[in-house]
Amino acid sequence: MKKQHGFPIKQLVKLASYTSIFLVLSFFLIFLFAQESAAKNIYLKIGLATNQKTGSISSKSRIYCKDASGRTLKVSGRILLKTHSLSSKKIYINNKCLSLPITIHSKTPIYWNKRPYRGWFKLYPSSNGFNVINIVGIEQYLRGVLKMEVNPSWEMEALKAQAIVARTYALRNRGKHRSQGFDLCALPHCQVYRGINAEDPRINKAIASTKGLVLYYGNNLAVTPYHSDSGGYTANVWEVWSGHMPYLKAKKEPFSYVSPYSNWKVMIPLSELKEKLRKNRISVGEIRHVSIPERDKGGRAVSVLIEGTRGKVKIKASKFRIIVGSSKVKSTYFKINGNSQNVTTTNNIINQPVEEEKLYDHEGVLFASFIKKGVFSTEELMDMLVHPEKKPHYLRLALQRQSGIKSKHSFSRYSANGKVLILEGKGWGHGVGMSQWGAKAMAEHGWNFKKILMYYYPGTKLRKVY
Ligand SMILES: [Zn+2]
Repeated sequence: MKKQHGFPIKQLVKLASYTSIFLVLSFFLIFLFAQESAAKNIYLKIGLATNQKTGSISSKSRIYCKDASGRTLKVSGRILLKTHSLSSKKIYINNKCLSLPITIHSKTPIYWNKRPYRGWFKLYPSSNGFNVINIVGIEQYLRGVLKMEVNPSWEMEALKAQAIVARTYALRNRGKHRSQGFDLCALPHCQVYRGINAEDPRINKAIASTKGLVLYYGNNLAVTPYHSDSGGYTANVWEVWSGHMPYLKAKKEPFSYVSPYSNWKVMIPLSELKEKLRKNRISVGEIRHVSIPERDKGGRAVSVLIEGTRGKVKIKASKFRIIVGSSKVKSTYFKINGNSQNVTTTNNIINQPVEEEKLYDHEGVLFASFIKKGVFSTEELMDMLVHPEKKPHYLRLALQRQSGIKSKHSFSRYSANGKVLILEGKGWGHGVGMSQWGAKAMAEHGWNFKKILMYYYPGTKLRKVY
């Protein structure tokens, strides 16, 4: 009896356990497969232009437009877009009236105002015209981003570190511009994206070899700010913005390096400072003295004290930098009036990404002023016209030229009347997280991308998400 009953029960138990193992395994495989296929299809909506009234779209092959009502249009060559004078939900495409949103496909890259992009397009209605959105796979998106951040000729490991940081940023900030109908903008506010014109074989290689790799802190994508040059010491995140991520802590660069921003000097007429403070609702009367009451352990200014005829005010150094202009005060790693008594000889100063964004937001204004001042040669102006993607390069060049010979001249002129604040500093950017020039130096010393990332974002983990 015992045997008769025992045998089938044992068999049944065995069968049940095999079945459950099989089921668990199947679910696991299905889960993995689902993750893989979902990840392969990560597309980002990138806002190329907002509130447009006119524009052009073209492609080397036929263009297919489908509007909100399902009406389709096939066009060869170039499309001219124009807003409808009576309806914000309608648009003219080559004089044919279509309803927004409109999806635009083509077998070959689509050009928006003569600049080519991968993926496809969507035109959305906006408060004052239409928004132009490029929908593109994340890996292809990165190909249009990295060259705007780093020089493709840099060491491969530095390029890989930048690829991972930019990928993490893009995934973490998906939906940042949701209210405008897209994920990320193409400006430094998010990450500068220039489509196919910005692609480069070495950059593409760095992206492909780190495919799907991102930084995690705990169970979340890490916050991965980066900047151009720390000046020798990075900044604490809480001294620049709010937040207290333990992995975004001030650190000394392990290697010394030279960048175009290693040393800078800027003169700020006190009248200009007073006006800029006033615009930010800060008033101390006539400015008499400016000093740095606090520095962090790396030597970066934490606060700035401004004393005037009608009182004094202490503001965060990062705020001071934004108020004066982040392209002027390139970092918070500065000393005042050339007086080195407050700063060690190896002083460290850093800047903010928010300001770099502003710099690019006002790219047009800056260029106009540089052109007016005759900073560029005719050949350079022509080159810029033919290759608009080179503009960031020329912008940097102009800023370098401006902080060079010209400023020395005006320095002596201004300092003679004593009504100017002179700042001498190091580095460019907010200083939080990875320093691009610092990463370049590490790569040149043989560090791989993992070691570089773990130095700037200690405690985070690399994870392959697809
Ligand atoms: Zn943005």
